[in-house]
Amino acid sequence: MENENTISNILQAVDDSGRHYRDSIPMIASENILSPLVRRACNSDLHGRYAEGLPGKRYYQGCEDFDTIESIGIATAKRVFNCKFANIQSTSGTNSNLGVLKALTKPGQTITAVSTADGGHISHARMGAVGMRGLNLTTYPWDEDRMEPDLDAAVSMIREVQPNLALFGQSVFLFPTPLRELSDAAHEVGAKVMYDGAHVLGLIAGNQFQDPLNEGADVMTGSSHKTFPGPQGGFVLSNSDDEKFQKRLNNGIFPGVCSSYHLHHVAGKTVALSEFEEFGAEYAKNIISNAKSLAEFLAEEGFDVLAEDRGYTASHQVLTRHGGIDSGAGRDAALILEKSGIITNMNMLPGDSKAMSPSGLRLGTPEITRLGMSNDDMKDIAKFFSRALIRKEDPKVIQNDVKEFKSNFQTVNYCFEPSLAYPGL
Ligand SMILES: *Cc1c(COP(=O)(O)O)cnc(C)c1O
Repeated sequence: MENENTISNILQAVDDSGRHYRDSIPMIASENILSPLVRRACNSDLHGRYAEGLPGKRYYQGCEDFDTIESIGIATAKRVFNCKFANIQSTSGTNSNLGVLKALTKPGQTITAVSTADGGHISHARMGAVGMRGLNLTTYPWDEDRMEPDLDAAVSMIREVQPNLALFGQSVFLFPTPLRELSDAAHEVGAKVMYDGAHVLGLIAGNQFQDPLNEGADVMTGSSHKTFPGPQGGFVLSNSDDEKFQKRLNNGIFPGVCSSYHLHHVAGKTVALSEFEEFGAEYAKNIISNAKSLAEFLAEEGFDVLAEDRGYTASHQVLTRHGGIDSGAGRDAALILEKSGIITNMNMLPGDSKAMSPSGLRLGTPEITRLGMSNDDMKDIAKFFSRALIRKEDPKVIQNDVKEFKSNFQTVNYCFEPSLAYPGL
């Protein structure tokens, strides 16, 4: 009996989580929602299967159909990212980064990257993948007004430090990185250049942000589930046609950091790539347009939106500050919004030094755009923010209104066979 209860509790919570999101406005910048066909691929028998190696070169029998899938996925990824090499096996963005660090560096070598305080990802830090590979890390000087590496100072730093690998890209990512100049400096000192596009991969593939592999990056990594709207997983991409280099990258993922690589997710990624080829450019454009609108409407409501001088954002993200540096007001705002039916995350902003009590919020438009919201709807969202955080209305009342608003956005778009985003609840 106890067991039965446990099972029903688990399943109840699984469905409750779906209902919670169905009735809320999902604004976590790194999140997205699966299309019906991607969901189908992810729920397939492939879930239980194994493949190691590459299509046609397997250690296991039974991979023939999966070989077809992975081959299509690789070919589609090369077209979608306009590049000569794609590995679609890695199980997450972090896993992609670890694999590439394994491929391109040795313990004791030097890497340069964006600090986590300035928006770099934990996998770029000593406590993450960079530390696990035993690399010496130096972080770039940062331009807080432009929210990007301080170009002149970073170029000097690269010349002085002479890294083996120069890593760019962030989790807080408003504007394209001035990659051309930074890559030139890195290549001058013999470094390889890696661009972590985890957050902005869909914007890049949709030709709406920057084209790192054409601006000097030797390799680009990323997650397959943020602005690129596939299942959770990763990509490793390159424009190099040097077979030795490509082999190093493949070996970094397997046998470097994967054995099984979650074949159902690779199948889902492959479907997502096909859908992206058809709908991605429009999707990426609308994500950014919504982010800009959201920023403008929030500023109109009186919120302190970062980077006003640069038009607030050129990506899927908007940053707002809610009180003094390290005040924890960003965390408080995120909690009030959650009670009001709006899901966001607190974030450190320039000046903040405490990850758990920052002054900022990071807002993202990938998921709400995919659910069919457009510029006008950003005004309604800004109004909900104002009611919750400025006028301090009862969150329960706001939550009810949010639920009603959200009931108009229940379909996944920018995919084949658009249908219910939250099936079976
Ligand atoms: C999200 C993120 C990652 C990690 O991706 P996961 O798929 O969550 O492992 C890596 N790098 C950057 C810059 C990110 O923002």
